[in-house]
Amino acid sequence: MGRTFDSILETVGNTPVVRINNLAPPDVTLYVKVESFNPLGSVKDRLALGVIEDAERTGALKPGQTIVESTSGNTGIGLAMVCAQKGYPLVITMTETFSVERRKLMRFLGAKVVLTPAAERSTGMIEKAKELAERHGWFMTRQFENEANPDYHSATTAQEILRDFEGERLDYWVSGYGTGGTLKGVARVLADRRPDTKIVVCEAVEAPVVSSGLPQEKDADGFPVGTHPAYNPHPMQGWGPNFMSRLTGDTVDMGIIHKAVTITGPQAIACSQDLAKKEGIFVGITSGATFAGALKVCEEAPSGSVVLCMLPDTGERYLSTDLFDGVPEVMSDAEREIAASTPNHRLD
Ligand code: PMP
Repeated sequence: MGRTFDSILETVGNTPVVRINNLAPPDVTLYVKVESFNPLGSVKDRLALGVIEDAERTGALKPGQTIVESTSGNTGIGLAMVCAQKGYPLVITMTETFSVERRKLMRFLGAKVVLTPAAERSTGMIEKAKELAERHGWFMTRQFENEANPDYHSATTAQEILRDFEGERLDYWVSGYGTGGTLKGVARVLADRRPDTKIVVCEAVEAPVVSSGLPQEKDADGFPVGTHPAYNPHPMQGWGPNFMSRLTGDTVDMGIIHKAVTITGPQAIACSQDLAKKEGIFVGITSGATFAGALKVCEEAPSGSVVLCMLPDTGERYLSTDLFDGVPEVMSDAEREIAASTPNHRLD
């Protein structure tokens, strides 16, 4: 990278934008922004650093205070890295259904992981974190509503995109949403600085929360209450929770979303596998899903268009999930044939 770094935290962000050479239609230029280049392998390293440094600046987080957050994994892993470097104890609450390697990774990085029942969905893990924060006086990062989350994306992710496409065409920016931090933070800057760039949002076909146009029930303070009417459980770990987050809702209300595209689980997995096998880009399920959305955009885009697709995390986080179904441990017939084609070192 041409420099030395004072801590691992300085390596967050500045992820590469890479052209797709084998999977894009010939008349469209498709780029991906590969967030797995962050030190702990996902876009959420940005949020983790952004919310903690913001809380340090405002004094909301005291030296040595325990941090608590509910997360499907990547936020917890990012927070665990930041807490390890800065010396804060960390407690994560997480629905029991998320992949085992995520839990283990957080514990490896020194965090405590408290599991919550699957039946209570995202709401259960969030309420548990609130309960713990109140009881013990811990600092909750509140990733779904903390403005430091989109602010950090406006200050980093969006600026990197402006820099990388300066003087170049950029017709579409394609992203999914979990907290909506990436979406709100980047979309508002593009709407202002690159008004010709169309913002396209991807979501699971089972949970067309944005596409449905249906409102989210909210409390008197404007915070979401209960499950959104269009939500059903979906296979995209890290995408939309069972409510429309305040950050996502803000972006919808700004009227800057050009289009929402829905993606199926099999489409997401096929795209993730294709990215690995045909581009050498190794990413997770929501990356495959966002890429599936970007390919739909490419199909409809005028010839010559330039499309940028966010890829939120690494595929390594999904070894125990459907993404690796059909990837065998034992040798296939073709592999046995190769082994048998020379006389020695055979495992017959
Ligand atoms: N994909 C994955 C794998 C994630 O973990 C997340 C964050 N939960 C997202 C996408 C969405 O990012 P954001 O929270 O910024 O909307």
